[in-house]
Amino acid sequence: MLSRILIVTAAVVLWTNPMLAAAEVEVLWLGHATVHFTSVEGKVIVVDPFLKKNPKTPPKYRDLKALGKVDLILVTHGHRDHILDLKELAELSGATVVSPYGFALNMVSLGVIDGEKSIGMNKGGTVSPIGRGIKVHMVPAEHGSNVDFKMPGLKLEPGAPRAVDAGPAVGYVIEFENGFSVYHSGDTAVFSDMALIREFYKPDLAMVCISGHFTMDPEGAAYALKNFLKPKQVIPIHYGTFPVINRTPAELKQAMGNSPIEILDMEPGQSMRF
Ligand SMILES: [Zn+2]
Repeated sequence: MLSRILIVTAAVVLWTNPMLAAAEVEVLWLGHATVHFTSVEGKVIVVDPFLKKNPKTPPKYRDLKALGKVDLILVTHGHRDHILDLKELAELSGATVVSPYGFALNMVSLGVIDGEKSIGMNKGGTVSPIGRGIKVHMVPAEHGSNVDFKMPGLKLEPGAPRAVDAGPAVGYVIEFENGFSVYHSGDTAVFSDMALIREFYKPDLAMVCISGHFTMDPEGAAYALKNFLKPKQVIPIHYGTFPVINRTPAELKQAMGNSPIEILDMEPGQSMRF
């Protein structure tokens, strides 16, 4: 009798609350390092907005309005191919912008980010700016970070340096309402403290750069995945966007050998649910 009541109650709850029935997170890869997440409760997070001039972004998404509402933007570092559309998307959406502290200071002072909407933080920190069900952990990355003045919304003054240092480069682990967690590596080389990211946050999915030249290559990424990160699944990102970063998911597959980690070889514009 009790079990019958429980089954009926569960059915009523699922029927009256479609969010519970579809308790999944949507991961939409938009090319390069730009990722669009829709949480279980419909909150939208965009990491590293680079769309309008991104040769890998499907034409539909080069119109920033096509993204619909955005609640939160996460920035891994200041290089152009990660923030070219930050100013416009932040203004258009009114989203909160989480970024490394030094980067946030520069971007607020240069008028790229509204100070009221900016959360500057640092590696090791956790914030929940769009509700307690979603945690954003800022984690280390082994890379540089500069703000380039040759960018929309900024002015390159004659004789001034073209770029300024913008604090550390970082990655993120996002924990969603349904327990699913994802690691976005940002741009990085392999570093052994990736094992601590595994130890602390146990990401289910890793979205890692494999391009070589500026970041780890497929062999480096495979080493990191097998020895340090150990996720259930991996989506390779940040490759093939420009001629100089020409490594491929097929090479990652080769380097992973018989590892049980599943490689999800997505196309830009494709989404998956977790
Ligand atoms: Zn970079």
